[in-house]
Amino acid sequence: MRAFNFSAGPAMLPEAVMNKAHDEFLDWHGTGMSVMEMSHRSKEFMSLAAKMEADLRDVMAIPDNYKVIFTHGGASTQFAAIPYNLAAQTDTVDYINSGVWSTKAVKEAARYAVMNEVAVTEIDLPDFSTLKFNDQAKYLHICHNETITGVEYQTLPKVNVPIVADMSSNILSRPINVADYGIIYAGAQKNIGPAGLSISIIREDLLGQARADTPSLMNWQVYADNGSMFNTPSTYAWYLAGLVFEWIKEQGGLEAIGKINQRKAAKLYKCIDNSSLYFNEVETSVRSWMNVTFKFNKPELEAQFLKESNQAGLLNLKGHKAYGGMRASIYNAMPEAGIDALIQFMNDFEAKNG
Ligand SMILES: *Cc1c(COP(=O)(O)O)cnc(C)c1O
Repeated sequence: MRAFNFSAGPAMLPEAVMNKAHDEFLDWHGTGMSVMEMSHRSKEFMSLAAKMEADLRDVMAIPDNYKVIFTHGGASTQFAAIPYNLAAQTDTVDYINSGVWSTKAVKEAARYAVMNEVAVTEIDLPDFSTLKFNDQAKYLHICHNETITGVEYQTLPKVNVPIVADMSSNILSRPINVADYGIIYAGAQKNIGPAGLSISIIREDLLGQARADTPSLMNWQVYADNGSMFNTPSTYAWYLAGLVFEWIKEQGGLEAIGKINQRKAAKLYKCIDNSSLYFNEVETSVRSWMNVTFKFNKPELEAQFLKESNQAGLLNLKGHKAYGGMRASIYNAMPEAGIDALIQFMNDFEAKNG
């Protein structure tokens, strides 16, 4: 029995993907081997990798002048790799700090370049027109979806420097225009596949500028030159990511997925907004479609809510300790039935205890 797992990450993967991986686990396509047991240099794995990248390019409509690389160490490794690849120690880098993940990115990058934190927010985004961007900055970094509070960019600031976007928790959730960004990167464990793998989509002119002391496994050019196989890649994670990209295509692509995600989020926010027990603090115009947070007018009910929701098969609704309250992470793989079950539970709980 599969539960509705609202974990922020690692998170649910589509059941069809898990079933396919299960079916192919011992013998991938008649090779007599699991993908896990296969050389990354074999023609079988090379073909799997090529199809995986082609499907991602297709799904996201990635222009030809962008390279896609598959890196190690999750999104967090990129917090250092970004300044290493784009700035010298004395160069300025602009960051909008919109929460916990931005703060981590800021702290790491501040060790490798001159930090210009242009704004700090928590449950809102700044009015971009009032911000003092540095035109000499090597890039502007944003966290496109703050996973912990549930704050998501719905528009982008207009700047003269490349935008580097952490999309770990909202990549593949709706169509975006890749050309609006210099770099998009994302850890896999929310909307892509197993943790550890991270994907970066890099405009070609931003490659080849890494400082001389950049570790090879943080140097994007090294990944690009070696088909992301400078060392052994996380082969099984690539395989599962490939199955997820195929699944997205079968669902009708990001256009269709985006409509479903919008509907899922809208009905959950509506339930919260109509309630006198639950409330969401995020400025309405930047509410996340992927991570829906809510707090209680009677916080003493939180423990009971968690216990009873868990018993009802609605798992991992506890919010991040940095923010508190509850959080329902509703990535692509969360079926709409999971949202409906959560809303039903929330309404019943309020009727009994509110
Ligand atoms: C999960 C997450 C990360 C960190 O990913 P790791 O793979 O653990 O490094 C970074 N940024 C955002 C927005 C996230 O949601």
